Amino acid sequence: MRKAVIAVVIVFALGLVAAAVAVAGEAGAKYICTMCKVGAEQAGKCPLCGKDFKMAGKYMCPACDTTSDTPGKCACGREYVKVEMAGVKCPGCGYYHAKDTKGCPVCDKMAKDKKQG
Ligand SMILES: [Zn+2]
Ligand SMILES: [Zn+2]
Ligand SMILES: [Zn+2]
Repeated sequence: MRKAVIAVVIVFALGLVAAAVAVAGEAGAKYICTMCKVGAEQAGKCPLCGKDFKMAGKYMCPACDTTSDTPGKCACGREYVKVEMAGVKCPGCGYYHAKDTKGCPVCDKMAKDKKQG
């Protein structure tokens, strides 16, 4: 009997790992606010700072806020940085946020806005 239970647990665990890998392999945020580390699947404005999202995979100058399709140097001499974010999707608001943040900054802001009326 014990062996059967262990086998079931192992199969269940493998299933969880497979599911986790499938989720990780999915395309993340396509549009990102590099300042707030917030992303979305559709173009739009950052819910935190109101700036336009930048397209993932493009390159941007952190000083001038200009974007480029190719890596290289900005007119100001700074190196372009790739627009990317290892984010997780928040089930509450649907926006992506950085993996290392506690909670969701977008939901936090919405809760604050509600309090203020
Ligand atoms: Zn922002
Ligand atoms: Zn620049
Ligand atoms: Zn959220």
